Amino acid sequence: MSEIEIKNVSKKYETKDGTVEALKNVSLSIEQGDIYGIIGMSGAGKSTLVRCMNFLEEPTEGQVLIKGRTLGSLSKKELRKQREDIGMIFQHFNLLMQKSVIDNVCFPLYIQGKKKKEARAKALELLEIVGLQDRAKAYPAQLSGGQKQRIAIAGVLAMSPECIVFDEPTAVLTPQEIDELMEIMRSLAAEGKSILFITHKLNEIMAVADRCTVL
Ligand code: ADP
Repeated sequence: MSEIEIKNVSKKYETKDGTVEALKNVSLSIEQGDIYGIIGMSGAGKSTLVRCMNFLEEPTEGQVLIKGRTLGSLSKKELRKQREDIGMIFQHFNLLMQKSVIDNVCFPLYIQGKKKKEARAKALELLEIVGLQDRAKAYPAQLSGGQKQRIAIAGVLAMSPECIVFDEPTAVLTPQEIDELMEIMRSLAAEGKSILFITHKLNEIMAVADRCTVL
């Protein structure tokens, strides 16, 4: 069974200037441990596809299945729970700038009800995965773009998602940081996470994705 299956999904927006067809009959399936690329120019429908995948946006036609369950059939509560299984990394990292690196990673763990000691131990483990354990006490402003992104990745890993969507993650990174990010994607996939990598750069898809869809 696929981790995520998009079946004949179309999305239309009604605007005052008429109907915008953002997605037209898109089908794809992402298996566990895949690095799946989505490539397309600006306006091709990449963000719409991701929002449909979470049901933040309901497709006009077609189905989204996560592990064989149709999202359209879930209650609001089940849908909220389901969304936690898909972590999101954005171009801008959404960090708490007044908090240290480790406190940024602890934050989602506190929300899950973890006690301080347990949360800090887990956060250090996650920072080790992204190679930032020795910067735990630094503040985001003291770190490079690539390092800030790695804090965000550790924060997303704290939620134990099964799938991680990287939405245009390389835009503000240096070539070396892009290589490091790809290495992290590969090791997460090797551990069984499904990775969805959205970009408009073909060379990045060629370098890291197992399969891809062109929008
Ligand atoms: P991408 O992420 O690839 O840049 P989007 O998914 O943001 O593309 O947009 C795809 C198309 O749908 C574009 O033409 C965009 O203008 C249109 N679109 C996206 N969201 C909306 C919306 N809420 N209302 C109307 N049109 C939209």
